[in-house]
Amino acid sequence: MNGSTVYRQSGDWKLRGGPAGLHVFHRNTGLNVLIDEIFVPTALHARAPRQVSIALSNRCDLSCAHCYAPKFRGELRFDSVTQWLAELDAAGTLGVGFGGGEPTLHPDFMELCQYAAHETQLSVSFTTHGHHVDAEMADHLRGSIHFIRVSMDGVGLTYESIRRRSFAQLLVRLKDVGTISRFGVNVVVNEHTLPELDEVARVSADAGACELLLLPQMPLRSVLAASADTLQGLRRWVEGYKGPLKLCINESSAEGFPTCDPLVQEGGLRAYAHIDATGVLKPSSYADTGVQLGDGDVLLALAQLEHDLEENDK
Ligand code: SF4
Repeated sequence: MNGSTVYRQSGDWKLRGGPAGLHVFHRNTGLNVLIDEIFVPTALHARAPRQVSIALSNRCDLSCAHCYAPKFRGELRFDSVTQWLAELDAAGTLGVGFGGGEPTLHPDFMELCQYAAHETQLSVSFTTHGHHVDAEMADHLRGSIHFIRVSMDGVGLTYESIRRRSFAQLLVRLKDVGTISRFGVNVVVNEHTLPELDEVARVSADAGACELLLLPQMPLRSVLAASADTLQGLRRWVEGYKGPLKLCINESSAEGFPTCDPLVQEGGLRAYAHIDATGVLKPSSYADTGVQLGDGDVLLALAQLEHDLEENDK
């Protein structure tokens, strides 16, 4: 099979060559197929990360204690984001996830989603607290979004004590979310939310979610990391879960959990990168090391970041 055949693609299907073989991805269904019988020469490996998250804005109208979004002002320009998306798409990235802060507060949020869905072959997702997703926004986003992640830390009073928003109102918002695209629920796991995971999973499934992303709490000035007991309890819960939701966990917390990663050979910056709301490219949203992006220079910045990370490791 020659190079031009490896990269031929059309419509919502996208092909990506890498060390594990040929990765076939369908953005509407989220279907991933790895054809590992096909050897892809190194020169044809995708140069961009498989998945990129972009914090469109640091702004948020909630103030959750566990929030790790920076509290200084930062908001990306439409033109910069669209140039980066075009470059990433051409270099083999499969999906972009918009976040923040609260991405729906960015003044060009809907236009950016529409650009990404219709001018690129990227799968488009966003992470939201959900309280601004109404029928009007849903009408604008339908057809331009492939997946939505909604934060739900516990149910009822637990949720309300963390988010200071009505839980009943969130459930109403989930109805609009479900008219846009497939969606999942993110839950920050700590000693308060762990006992409510059964209920979070039940409510999420009833609302139409297909996935539950478990996020053990990270340490910040205002909160402690999820304790060893909490992580132990979470492992037990995962082992015992028999419901319909697909369970996922963030990579940094995955140790000790039964996970499946068919693309282990494609780690680091080939797997994932983050662009923060000031345009700094990083290996993750928590990382200190980063490279400031200009307009349309993502691949150069990736090479620089790879070099800087290698130097730091020496
Ligand atoms: S909703 Fe998200 S971005 Fe906003 S304060 Fe809470 S955790 Fe932070």
